[in-house]
Amino acid sequence: MSEIAIEIESYLKRLFPITRSITGEGNRETLKILQEVAPIHIKEYPSGTSVYDWIIPEEWNVQNAWIQDDNGNKIVDFKNNNVHLVSYSEPVNKAINFEELKEHLHFHDKLPNAIPYRTTYYKRDWGFCVTQAQYKQLEETSGLFNVYIDSEFNPNGSLTIGEILIPGKSEHEILISTYICHPSLANDNLSGAVMTAFLARELLKKKDLTRSYRIVWVPETIGAIAYCSMNESKMKRIQSGLVVTTVGGPGKFGYKQSYNVKHSINSIVESVFEDKDLDYLKYPFDYHGSDDRQYSSQGFRINMISLTKDKYYEYKYYHTSLDNLDYVKAEYVAQSLELHLNVLEKLNHERVYQNCYPNCEVMLSKHDLYPKTGGGQLPGYGELTDLDIVLQLLWVCDGHTGVYGISNQLNVPVKVLMGIVLRLQRKNLLCQVV
Ligand code: ZN
Repeated sequence: MSEIAIEIESYLKRLFPITRSITGEGNRETLKILQEVAPIHIKEYPSGTSVYDWIIPEEWNVQNAWIQDDNGNKIVDFKNNNVHLVSYSEPVNKAINFEELKEHLHFHDKLPNAIPYRTTYYKRDWGFCVTQAQYKQLEETSGLFNVYIDSEFNPNGSLTIGEILIPGKSEHEILISTYICHPSLANDNLSGAVMTAFLARELLKKKDLTRSYRIVWVPETIGAIAYCSMNESKMKRIQSGLVVTTVGGPGKFGYKQSYNVKHSINSIVESVFEDKDLDYLKYPFDYHGSDDRQYSSQGFRINMISLTKDKYYEYKYYHTSLDNLDYVKAEYVAQSLELHLNVLEKLNHERVYQNCYPNCEVMLSKHDLYPKTGGGQLPGYGELTDLDIVLQLLWVCDGHTGVYGISNQLNVPVKVLMGIVLRLQRKNLLCQVV
């Protein structure tokens, strides 16, 4: 195993048992441990704060939970596996029969040995997730069950997030976001939370960052919404980024496209896969998904992609206790880390240009760009003449759209495009922004 994989493995093992949720001590503890890898700034957003259409929930913490039979035998015990408890369950301490208990039980219909992962964030309720064998045992046990959940809600608590800002040569920012709200589940998304810390560590070593980086660890959905609300004006300036999720499975690499398929970030990812001659799965954008739902929403419209290794929704152990450290391996996370770094490297060196004369057309003939007599234009690439490409570049170069994105829009290879870009730059018609 590589040195970095050994290090990643030690963090996967330490962090796996911690009970994380949308709020609570487990999230704080996770970020504190990851601070050993990268200088994560931990921030707290108070419970009760309005963030757009949502309210930051009360802080939830849990000490213990079990279901006991009449004789005091624990049939289901949170201490054996924290996935047994429906996340954000309210406190309970009562004796009930199976009829009542079964309304609060969840099992996986396809995987008999799996404990499904369930939450009850926005409806006060409680529940246990069990294997099929445990469900059967409970069903066949006579008498009452003692159900105990030692949890608490704190209206004066907070939601915890982690943040690292890495300034580069320009203010053009790349957003890297991952989530920390799942308990003992390895691919979704402990792999992402750990890999992002290593990604930050590697970025901090680089001396040639042309972009600035905003790296965040948030509880999914509410954390991303809260972060957008707390950093609205800065977030609205960001063009693109990555949601780091499910990067540690044994399956194929994949990538989920951003909402604008013509955006640079999609072409860059595909060119990295091609450079490395890697077979990969392509998932078109859809508005289901992870925190791209928030970052790409109308008000922000950040082009977010995800580079996955066994994408959420797609692998059979998704959201079950079998998504554990037998399934996820540190080597896979290390491979994903390398791939992410390759993409960021290319993204970092992508050039962005601005038309130096945005007000009306430039006088092409003055710059020796207009044919002296009509009919003599030679094709530049495909259906496009050189003149077409010149006009398109002057039309598209707005100081935001990168060369890979323009290549994607015009369907002209980057190499061909760059020849003409450099000609226009020499004539001071295009100014390099980044
Ligand atoms: Zn999930």
